Amino acid sequence: MLDVRQIPILSDNYSYLIKDTDTGAVAVIDPGVSDVILEKADELGWTITDIILTHHHDDHIGGLADIKHKTNAKVTGPQRDHHRIDGMDFMVDGGDSIQFGSKTAKVFYVPGHTLGHIAYWFENEDILFPGDSLFSLGCGRLFEGTPEMMWQSLQQYLPLPEQTLIYSAHEYTLSNAEFSLTVDPDNSDLKKRVEKIKSLRKDDQPTVPSLLSEELKTNPFLRPNDAGIRETLNMLSATDADVFKEIRKRKDNF
Ligand code: ZN
Ligand code: FE
Repeated sequence: MLDVRQIPILSDNYSYLIKDTDTGAVAVIDPGVSDVILEKADELGWTITDIILTHHHDDHIGGLADIKHKTNAKVTGPQRDHHRIDGMDFMVDGGDSIQFGSKTAKVFYVPGHTLGHIAYWFENEDILFPGDSLFSLGCGRLFEGTPEMMWQSLQQYLPLPEQTLIYSAHEYTLSNAEFSLTVDPDNSDLKKRVEKIKSLRKDDQPTVPSLLSEELKTNPFLRPNDAGIRETLNMLSATDADVFKEIRKRKDNF
C-alpha cells in the first residue's frame, strides 16, 4: 500500500510524504520548503528516495534543491517546465506513467493554473495528487492558462473512480465553501458539506483529502452542467465551458 502523510507548510500549503510499504521507497510531493519536510521524514524514520513535482510555483518547489542535495533523491516533474525547474532527473507529460517503488502513477497534463501543470494518479491505490489544479470545492486560479483550458483539464478527473482520494496542495476549502454556496445555493449535499467543513476548520483540522464522489456532488467547478447552478447563473443553454468560465470569473472577484 501507499502510506500518505500530510505536511502543512507555509501559510496554507500541503506537501506530502508517501511511502511504498512494499519496497520502502519514500517520495515527497511538492516540497515547498525543506526543513519541515526533512524533520518529518526523520521523525518517521523514512529516507526520501524520490521528489515528485506538479508545477513550477515556488510554494511547490522551494525545498527542492536542498532536499535533493541532502538526500540524493531522484526528481520527477513536468517536462513542459524544463526551462523553469532546475534539477529534474525525469521529465514527464500527460499520458506518461511514473514508477515509484512498486507502484505506478499515471500522469495527466492539466494546464490552466500554469501551462506546465501535471497531476499524478495512483490508479490501483485510488489516490490523486492534483497539485493546484483541483481543490476541495475549488480549482486553481488561472495564472497562465485560459478557462477553456482549465475546463478541459478538469474533465480528465470526472471519469476516475468515485472512491478516489484527492490530495490537493492547499487548504482553501473554507473560502471555497462560502463561494460555492453563492453559485449553488440549493444544493443540500453542499450545505451539509459546508457545515462539516466549518466545524473541521474551527478545530484546525484539515479538510483535505476529499473523495471524488463528494467533489462531483458539491464542487461547482466540476458541475457546470448542473441545472441548479445554471439557473442561478441564468445560463440555462450555455456550453459547459462558458458556465465554467463564469464560475471561475465570479470566484476571482469573490
Ligand atoms: Zn501554484
Ligand atoms: Fe500553490
